[in-house]
Amino acid sequence: MQFKDIVGQQEIKDRLIKSVINNKVSHAQLFFGAEGVGKLAIAIAYAQYINCTNRTKTDSCGECSSCKKYAKLIHPDLHFVFPVVKIGSKEVISDDHIKEWREFVNKSPYFTYNQWIEQLENENKKGGIFVHESKSILKKISLTTYESEYKVMIFWLAEKMNIQTANKLLKILEEPPEKTLFILITENTEAIITTIKSRTQPVKIPKIDDDSLKNYLQKQSSITDDNEINTAVKFSNGSLTSLNKYINELEDNNELFDFFVRFMRTCYKFSIEEINTLTTEFVKLKREKQKRFFKLSLRLIRENFMLNINNNNLSVLTVQEQNFSNKFSNFIHQGIIEDLYNELDKAHHDIDRNGSDKIIFYDTAIKINKLLRKKF
Ligand SMILES: [Zn+2]
Repeated sequence: MQFKDIVGQQEIKDRLIKSVINNKVSHAQLFFGAEGVGKLAIAIAYAQYINCTNRTKTDSCGECSSCKKYAKLIHPDLHFVFPVVKIGSKEVISDDHIKEWREFVNKSPYFTYNQWIEQLENENKKGGIFVHESKSILKKISLTTYESEYKVMIFWLAEKMNIQTANKLLKILEEPPEKTLFILITENTEAIITTIKSRTQPVKIPKIDDDSLKNYLQKQSSITDDNEINTAVKFSNGSLTSLNKYINELEDNNELFDFFVRFMRTCYKFSIEEINTLTTEFVKLKREKQKRFFKLSLRLIRENFMLNINNNNLSVLTVQEQNFSNKFSNFIHQGIIEDLYNELDKAHHDIDRNGSDKIIFYDTAIKINKLLRKKF
């Protein structure tokens, strides 16, 4: 990971680079800031920069032997401590999951605690940095550095350390070995014990600025509309993980909207062949998405009824929804709105209660067909 790969954060990058150039790297630092602002990415890029044998005034070279190992997160002097999940009474430490961790971070170093814990695919969802970890930490610290100037240990989410682990760490922070850098990362400084806080230099990682997020969107997503870009950036509130979540949902919603349009057309015409095709597609969706489909249908039916009774200013629709609704709203009149709404609501409810998706979908299509064909 190089500084150039980090979204925004120019000021903090400059500050960290300066500390290396001026030979003022503090041996224990506490990177704190909100979820998704890039704390882990910055920590790795910083460590890579420190150990690069051919660094420039702006970044690591990306080509020296150290950089190449850093790029794969396999440098022997780079260590990670992160939350893991206990399996029964078995002692689990970060090293047990280092392979998954490297793969996960290499995919993107911007992820949430929940995303990481889900990755571990364990029924027990409560993660932590447990006391056995401290043995492994002490062992790693006592080893001489293999290849680089600095040995680096990055703690991802230090607030997940239990109190015994934190106390053991305290001793190392008090008497740090030569040329060792500890970077503790946290989203919650309140949860870090004060004795650790007082032994680390705080480094605030702020929210990502709007322009950098807009830039990212233009390069990384299919969103091109200026209004949509602004809405997405506003929603993300300086967090890249929130922005990615928003984009995924938006793309998902577009897909569900297309499905809704086909569903309504098919219900109106009622071709057995088409309804079979749609049913096959529907049952392939995950249950959560099936529920979202009926939620979306409920919203669109409600909005279209508002248009039907000329209450335009009460309706909130996207541009593509609006285009479809201009005609469609004529069908959503007073005579059927209540029944239509109830059918879709019932379908949502039945899906939620794990009913047969095939039967529910098919049944709803038949009922909606009757309603749409009903005359005023
Ligand atoms: Zn290098």
